[in-house]
Amino acid sequence: MLEMRYEKTPRRDDRPGPLEHLRSLVRHEVAVRQPRAVGVVVPGQVEEPNGIVRGASNLGWRDLELSRILRGDTNCPVVVGHDVRAGGLAEARAGAGRSKPCFIFVAIGTGIAAAIVVDGRPWTGAHAQAGEVGHLVIRPDGDLCACGRRGCIETVGTAAAVARRYAAITGRQLAAQQVVERAQAGDAVARTIWDEAISAIAQAVVLLHATVDPDVVVIGGGLSMAGSTLFAPLRDACQRLGAAPELEIVGAELGDAAGWRGAAILAWDWIDDALGHD
Ligand SMILES: [Zn+2]
Repeated sequence: MLEMRYEKTPRRDDRPGPLEHLRSLVRHEVAVRQPRAVGVVVPGQVEEPNGIVRGASNLGWRDLELSRILRGDTNCPVVVGHDVRAGGLAEARAGAGRSKPCFIFVAIGTGIAAAIVVDGRPWTGAHAQAGEVGHLVIRPDGDLCACGRRGCIETVGTAAAVARRYAAITGRQLAAQQVVERAQAGDAVARTIWDEAISAIAQAVVLLHATVDPDVVVIGGGLSMAGSTLFAPLRDACQRLGAAPELEIVGAELGDAAGWRGAAILAWDWIDDALGHD
C-alpha cells in the first residue's frame, strides 16, 4: 500500500455534493499517480457490470452512470462496485471468510447491509440488491429514514443512528463509539440506545442467517470496532430471536478497511482480466 487517506463523504445536499467531491478526488489521484485502473465502491443499488448506481439514498443518486462519468473525466478505466459486496470480497480473499464456502459479511457504519459470499464471490441478486437489509422497516412509527420510510433498521442499528439518537435526546454530539463507552459507564440514555441498536442488528443477522444458512457471519464496518461490547450482547440478542444454534458471529479480520480493500481488488481483477490472466 502506498498511502491511505480518509475524507469525509459530503451529505447529499452539501455543495460540493458527493458526486462533485468524488469526481475531483478521482481526477486528482489519476493525474498524480497514473494508475492502470481505479476501483470505486458505493453503497446502495449498484450494477457492477455496467458501473451504474441505480439508487443510493444516502448520497441522493439515482440511475447514475458513475463508471462512464469518471472514465470520461480521467480517460482511465474505473471499476464501480458495491461497498459491502466489495468488503465481502476482501474478507473472502484476505480476511475472516478465507476457506469458507459460504459466509455473510455484514457491514455496520453509516448504514447496514450484507454481502452473501458463496465460493469467494459476493452474490449480487437479480436487481443488484441482495443483502440490502438496512431499509427493512422494524418500527413503522419510528424515525424518518433517508429512503423516505420510517423505522428502517438503519434508523436504529447503525453507528450513525446511535450518534444521532443520542444527540436528539441529550443535545450532545458524540461519536457512536463514545456513546457505547457511556453505555458501559452507566449512562441510561446511552444504554437504551445501544441496546436498541444491538436488537435491530440482531434482527438483520437472524433474518440473513435463516435465509442463507452460512458457515459464519462476519461483522465489519466502523461499528464492529466496538469489539466485545458489540459481539457478546449481539450473540445473546440473536439467540433470543430464535437463531439456529449453528449461528457463529465473528469480527471482520480487515476491520473497517474491508470496503476500500475490496475496491482495490476490483481494480486489480480488472487489470488481470484485461491482461488475459485468470
Ligand atoms: Zn430506510
